[in-house]
Amino acid sequence: MRAVVTGIISAPPLLSRDTPMPSTSATLWIVATPIGNLEDFSPRASRTLAQVDVIAAEDTRYSGRLTRHLGIDTPMISLHEHNEQARIEQVIDRLAAGETGAPISDAGTPLISDPGYALVRAVREAGFAVQAVPGPCAAIAALSVAGLPSDRFVFEGFLPSKAGARRARLEALADETRTLLVYESSHRIEKSVADIAAVMGAGRAVGLCRELSKLHEQSVVMAASELGVWLAADDNRRRGEFVLVIEGAPPIERADADIPLDALLAELLSLTGTKQAAKAAARLTGRPTNEIYARALALGE
Ligand code: SAM
Repeated sequence: MRAVVTGIISAPPLLSRDTPMPSTSATLWIVATPIGNLEDFSPRASRTLAQVDVIAAEDTRYSGRLTRHLGIDTPMISLHEHNEQARIEQVIDRLAAGETGAPISDAGTPLISDPGYALVRAVREAGFAVQAVPGPCAAIAALSVAGLPSDRFVFEGFLPSKAGARRARLEALADETRTLLVYESSHRIEKSVADIAAVMGAGRAVGLCRELSKLHEQSVVMAASELGVWLAADDNRRRGEFVLVIEGAPPIERADADIPLDALLAELLSLTGTKQAAKAAARLTGRPTNEIYARALALGE
């Protein structure tokens, strides 16, 4: 029998284009824009951009095309990683005068591997309201289609572009048991997938979501080594924008509870330093690191 869902979402009433939004004065609206498909631009997002006093766009020329398409003529200023600090003061002055503003990025949700964090923080610290107009985000869209565990996940943004730093980051993440979300560009997708296979294991399941919501959208999930082969087989598969969804590492098997802690620690201390030994013993036994560290120190005395 199908469950009947009754009125679980209590949405605020929709506003018409010419109705002022409630509590909009001195508010910064964080508006998500499409990641490829213009139909994903919500009516609320469109209305908000039409009604705020100023839009702060990552790239005014790029976003200008979007707003013109929607018939929005709100004044626009630029807000990108190189001028964010300078813009903050200006935006706060405008909020203090009772105006409203909306930062938008080229695509998706501002602040998610995009500018806006410093602005939001400063605006909140200055005591003004910040409200979200939620919408597309490539990482969440990828997680929603990859079929890898979605109950707990870690968003890593972009991996470092230099090979050594990228491998070091992957090594630091290799034991992470939660699903990992990584943004990647067409220039580095093959190298990153090869590094994931080398560092995290050829058999690690990886979802590759490409061109989400666009004409050439593609999502595949396979072992890291197979994904490398799949990418190499067709130039088109390496084009566009990518999110990688990496399966988490299997949880480390805990040591048999019968192994006495002191024996385990003694063995580990013979191999490595106190800190490392305590860390390993804490992971193997599931006991708090502080407690184990104190015991390791006592054993070392
Ligand atoms: N703020 C955006 C968001 O909410 O997803 C992300 C901006 S970040 C600068 C751009 C990266 O997001 C791209 O390099 C790609 O990794 C990912 N991305 C954006 N749009 C995408 C799409 N349609 N399909 C797959 N990945 C996408």
